[in-house]
Amino acid sequence: MKAGRRQFLLAAGLLPLVRPLRAAGERVVIVGGGWGGLSAASHLRRLAPELEVTLVDRQPAFTSFALSNRWLVDQGAGNIERHDYTALAARWGYHFVQASVDSIDRAQRTVSTPSGRQPYDWLVLAPGIRENYAAWQVNDPQAVAELRQRHSGAMLNAADLPALKKRLAGFKGGDLLMTIPPAPYRCPPAPYERAMLIAWWLKTQKIPGKLVIIDPNPLMPAFKSILLERFKAQITYLDHARVRQIDLARKTVMTDVDDIRFDEALLSPPQEAADLLWPAGLIRRDDAGKATGWADQGGVNFRSVADERVFIIGDAAGLASPLFGHYPKTGHVANRMGAIVARQIAASATGKMHPLLLPESVCHVVSSVEPLEYTRIETSYRQRGDGFLMQQVKQVREPNPAGEDSAWAEAMYRDFLRP
Ligand SMILES: Cc1cc2nc3c(=O)[nH]c(=O)nc-3n(C[C@H](O)[C@H](O)[C@H](O)COP(=O)(O)OP(=O)(O)OC[C@H]3O[C@@H](n4cnc5c(N)ncnc54)[C@H](O)[C@@H]3O)c2cc1C
Repeated sequence: MKAGRRQFLLAAGLLPLVRPLRAAGERVVIVGGGWGGLSAASHLRRLAPELEVTLVDRQPAFTSFALSNRWLVDQGAGNIERHDYTALAARWGYHFVQASVDSIDRAQRTVSTPSGRQPYDWLVLAPGIRENYAAWQVNDPQAVAELRQRHSGAMLNAADLPALKKRLAGFKGGDLLMTIPPAPYRCPPAPYERAMLIAWWLKTQKIPGKLVIIDPNPLMPAFKSILLERFKAQITYLDHARVRQIDLARKTVMTDVDDIRFDEALLSPPQEAADLLWPAGLIRRDDAGKATGWADQGGVNFRSVADERVFIIGDAAGLASPLFGHYPKTGHVANRMGAIVARQIAASATGKMHPLLLPESVCHVVSSVEPLEYTRIETSYRQRGDGFLMQQVKQVREPNPAGEDSAWAEAMYRDFLRP
């Protein structure tokens, strides 16, 4: 690699745009109040209180997916975490606007909502994902709404989890279908952990039902023996199977191999970056010019390739490194990305440099209920001499766990929910 290229890659991560001290009155607009956006907002308030920070989200409250799988089947204590944005904004000292951002005018540096425009000097986009039902030949918005309402796998919005819990509680037997999206999708171990907990619940509640899993990906090794052997009576696992079409009236999904009828279903179609990024020209294209489905941003600085004033973080982010592809789409990574872009914006606004940070992720997954056992998945990164990022993934069994998952969640929430 040429020295110039190497320096460029390094600079992309290390050097913020250093500008004169003009911070007072400069505005940062953050779209999306999930793990990424809330982290960017809280870190900006700590690092550059002179900046005006406005968070825009279409929902009234943040709801967390973390630890939700156990809660779905009443295993273990606790509730899902939910916080009103108005209270969070008052607590941290940023503004909150509840609105859907319809478009971004990058030339004018404004975002548009039905209630007006929000001007920005810096824009942080953390809008999460969208679900692509068109990949299952469902194009009519009314049919999509009906599928979501009746059979959503609740991977898009954690506010849908109580409805899913109610549907599960009403399941009295028959075929319970679960589809896993093709990778990359958010929280890679989550569907397997959910499947294992549902199988445990069917067994212990003596519900005469079977969980049928359609998985286009290779089965995660940590779950292989428990899903295929220990819960053999509760689970039918179809590997490398892909949904092609769905017929809601007949409660049937068509795969490459078979048509599968279901009595109840947790449907999760393929995932892509959220709608907002598409018309704004912020989606990465492959060498043949085809949209990859995910954003086009730096792998270390998260700056949009199309616009240095725009950062894209969280699950919407695309390729991070040719050596491993995407960062895992976890709340932990989104939180670290928010902290990283806050440092860059603060450095640009105040002229103060901050050391380079790289993302990381820790996940405590329940890999057995009786006896209780977790698997800890640790993902870390290092920048190679040529500037490319390398990823290391470590999986460690945690027999006899003592609340490590709740301790992790609490540490995360202290960073962006509870000052
Ligand atoms: C079942 C499950 C369990 C999980 N468990 C864990 C876990 O234990 N640990 C972990 O680290 N991760 C976990 N995750 C993953 C984690 O939830 C996601 O990685 C995280 O939510 C991503 O954060 P984000 O900020 O990118 O997006 P989101 O959290 O989805 O936030 C996006 C926000 O943007 C808003 N928005 C989108 N478009 C617009 C618009 N146009 N205008 C206004 N607002 C908009 C949405 O309303 C939403 O509030 C889990 C995920 C699932 C599905």
